[in-house]
Amino acid sequence: MSKLTLNEEAARRRTFAIIAHPDAGKTTLTEHILLSGGAIRAAGAVRARGENRRTQSDWMKIEKERGISVSASVMTFEHTPADGIARMFNLLDTPGHEDFSEDTYRTLTAADCAIMVLDAAKGIEPQTLKLFEVCRLRDIPIITFINKLDREALDPLELLDEIASKLQLDPAPVWWPAQSGNRLRGMVEMGTGRFQPYARKVPGAVEDAGHPPALPLSEAAQYFEPGEQEELMEAAELVTGGYPAFDRQSFLEGHMTPVLWGSALRHFGIDELLAAIGEWAPPPKVMPARKEAPPETRNAPAPVELSIQPGSDEVTGFVFKVQANMDPNHRDRIAMFRMASGKFQRGMKLKVQNTGKSLSVNAPIMFFASDRELAEDAFAGDVIGIPNHGVLRVGDSLSESGMIRFAGLPNFAPEILQRVRVKDPLKAKHLKKALDGLAEEGVTQLFRPEIGADFIVGAVGQLQFEVMADRLGEEYGLEVIFEHSPYAEARWIDGDKADVEDFMGKYRGQMARDIDQAPVFLAKSSWETGYVTERFPKVAFTKTKERG
Ligand code: GDP
Repeated sequence: MSKLTLNEEAARRRTFAIIAHPDAGKTTLTEHILLSGGAIRAAGAVRARGENRRTQSDWMKIEKERGISVSASVMTFEHTPADGIARMFNLLDTPGHEDFSEDTYRTLTAADCAIMVLDAAKGIEPQTLKLFEVCRLRDIPIITFINKLDREALDPLELLDEIASKLQLDPAPVWWPAQSGNRLRGMVEMGTGRFQPYARKVPGAVEDAGHPPALPLSEAAQYFEPGEQEELMEAAELVTGGYPAFDRQSFLEGHMTPVLWGSALRHFGIDELLAAIGEWAPPPKVMPARKEAPPETRNAPAPVELSIQPGSDEVTGFVFKVQANMDPNHRDRIAMFRMASGKFQRGMKLKVQNTGKSLSVNAPIMFFASDRELAEDAFAGDVIGIPNHGVLRVGDSLSESGMIRFAGLPNFAPEILQRVRVKDPLKAKHLKKALDGLAEEGVTQLFRPEIGADFIVGAVGQLQFEVMADRLGEEYGLEVIFEHSPYAEARWIDGDKADVEDFMGKYRGQMARDIDQAPVFLAKSSWETGYVTERFPKVAFTKTKERG
């Protein structure tokens, strides 16, 4: 069907995530981007889908009760804008609650671009900053969307100053708003002078009529109170002089962010945002990797560093997330596989680099916004769901040859460590399996102390323990108790064998293994972490671990 080359297929893809502090409007914006893209027909569909899912499994109740979203997913849609290029958009959904930031970080490794949503009345909030730092670390370019203009907002200049001072990022306003809240009149495009009027909600109207068509600002007098139009013209002039014009190269290099404005709830500024993503966000990037035989291959050649071009023939990619099946009666998991190159076709055999295992991908899932569908083919930038029974883990590299390995995804040291016990001692045997399963999904981390039979579970936030207890009950029939553990911090250790063994010998009682059997030091306090770091300068105590 498709006559496009691999390079052309890759070039028309945009894989992006939305980052925001909780409540800034990420869910609402997701929905309205899907509306603009023609992927859904009515607002409310994303939430409705969520409600549906929630009735299926009990742990989702937590989401509902707390009003937060715990499970990340992907939404794919094709959209042809006015400029005529049919593009494929892959929107990676990230959970906003801070307890799940690790999941969010991993999802960002699969994105080529991020949309940073700010609440116009609040500016940059703590979680925005944290997520932004991850994007910077990963060289992910950022488009800024300032939301909730339909409410009283901060001065736009103040918002731009915050971006510049808190993020060290050059803001390039590509539109400029004409006031906010009840006085919001619309916005003008910098450079062209095109004015997009804002239609106020008519009290009592059942449906929004949509916003009036854009027109030159000089001809838009009807949308303003006396004096306002001139004010906007002056402001636009000042802004043109005071801020650099948008420069795509600078944006791609992470120095500049284009700034757009609007109201997700009132579907204002959304078409403009989608157009900006299509036009400016980068296509799938060239990814650094290594050509390397699976471990324990006999006479394996030395690993070679290489760059994977999105248009190259071999199917390659990595797993950035493993999701439990939404249906609790099915124990299988869905690995979210981000493609880096090639053309994937249903039924294809792929090999896992780190284990040498091979699997036939007969029932891949494409996450079209409307519904899940079987994927027939997919290209660089796409995300497909691969159902499996625990063969695939977060951070796994998959390819046709089985010889391509992408840099591992980071594991972050947990901030809370608890001991877990099962209430019914007869079920103790099942506990290990269940905990392994959840750790493989990346929900929580599992540490087995070298001495004793305890299970120590680590998480970034308290909420993860609740989700875990719920899922252990629901999916594995295990009632568990979390208890205080004597440990405050976990650190992966690394260094020359002799140094590491010397340290482990001295601290045997506080050593544990993670699910990859990597050695972990469990410290009783942050003071102790500092102490051993100083006393054993040749041993590295790390807060993150790149898997594989
Ligand atoms: P999330 O936590 O970032 O996903 O935020 P939501 O999309 O759930 O939005 C949080 C709240 O802000 C909800 O009550 C939304 O209806 C509201 N909201 C989102 N966008 C807008 C907007 O543009 N204008 C106004 N007035 N409210 C909005």
